[in-house]
Amino acid sequence: ARRAGRVIGVTLRPADGAGAPVTLAAPAVLLAGGGAAGLYAVTTNPPRIRGEAAGMAARAGAAIVDAEFVQFHPTALDVGADPAPLATEALRGEGATLIDAAGARFMPAAHPDAELAPRDVVARAVFAEWRDGGRPMLDARAVFARRGRAAFPALDATCARHGIDPAHAPIPVAPATHYHMGGVATDAAGRSGLPGLWVCGEAAATGLHGANRLASNGLLEALVFARFAADDIAATLGPAPEAGEVALRFAPAAPPPAAPVAALRQVMSAHAGVVRDAEGLRTALAEIARLEAAAPDAPAFANMTATATLIAASALLRRESRGAHYRADFPRPAARGARRWLTLTEALALRSEIVKETRCPSPDCPI
Ligand SMILES: Cc1cc2nc3c(=O)[nH]c(=O)nc-3n(C[C@H](O)[C@H](O)[C@H](O)COP(=O)(O)OP(=O)(O)OC[C@H]3O[C@@H](n4cnc5c(N)ncnc54)[C@H](O)[C@@H]3O)c2cc1C
Repeated sequence: ARRAGRVIGVTLRPADGAGAPVTLAAPAVLLAGGGAAGLYAVTTNPPRIRGEAAGMAARAGAAIVDAEFVQFHPTALDVGADPAPLATEALRGEGATLIDAAGARFMPAAHPDAELAPRDVVARAVFAEWRDGGRPMLDARAVFARRGRAAFPALDATCARHGIDPAHAPIPVAPATHYHMGGVATDAAGRSGLPGLWVCGEAAATGLHGANRLASNGLLEALVFARFAADDIAATLGPAPEAGEVALRFAPAAPPPAAPVAALRQVMSAHAGVVRDAEGLRTALAEIARLEAAAPDAPAFANMTATATLIAASALLRRESRGAHYRADFPRPAARGARRWLTLTEALALRSEIVKETRCPSPDCPI
């Protein structure tokens, strides 16, 4: 909820439409609703993590930064599960190799560090293998022979659930979205551009992870910046007054409409994924607009399409490749890197221009 440009609390609307909305007034709101990786069809993230937090803040007017930087984990298990389970990178650290369907390693040709190259490089090589009709696999047989099953119990159990024995067969893998470096632009105290709104965790973009998070820094950042935000809120507001317990009896919210969400995730994977180009990103923006127009009364979905729009628009505007953002039409980094702040209003203006210019591939296109 906003008044005079300030966030003044959170408005809750009964999902079944029965009863009036309730505003929980608050001098400070701390948003910690996670990232946006679940906006993609193949992801390691649970279904709740689909960019709703950043989308909510963007719709309230907060600026979003680094939206184009979506990290792909190179070795999710390609077993048709949603979310896709992970094959830990520790395996490659122990000597597991990436092989094609014929059993040949493909990483030595892609990077001098082969399987130990940075996440984005390995993700692109696995993606290229898969896109070209291959079957990329992680061969951990020698690692299991040397270290035994007990060294990787989680992976062993996950593989067993999907009928794979990693000690005796290579594991089919695919890149999966894993972490969003972008999010609500915040300062070192977790303050967003909207007075009254603090953001922490993956929903925020402090800039700490640059264009390509290093593994294991996500939780650390979430914990440290949550503390900074809490300290800043306490310092800004002083001691909190005693507040009574809020008892709300709302019916459980209906999940967002399944078909548009599934379509949105396919659009993001197909056109704003591991390898991007202008044509694909323009198609993504036009398709997001079409899906949004077709589901007008779905606030959770509107939060998702807001974040999807910001990701695709930022990716289109970044005419270079850097970190997790790779443009086939601009494959090199620019001489100077610069972060991009974008409001939803700006991203929607770009999207509208593209919708006017683009002939949507679908027959029910709104133009
Ligand atoms: C499989 C996997 C493995 C990972 N491994 C590591 C690791 O080893 N080390 C590391 O540092 N990081 C790891 N990460 C990343 C790390 O887990 C996340 O970055 C971190 O959990 C983000 O914390 P958060 O509190 O910001 O959000 P989350 O932990 O994602 O929590 C967000 C919460 O908000 C809720 N929420 C979202 N939208 C709404 C809504 N609209 N209404 C109400 N509630 C909502 C969600 O249900 C959830 O409870 C991993 C991520 C995954 C998916």
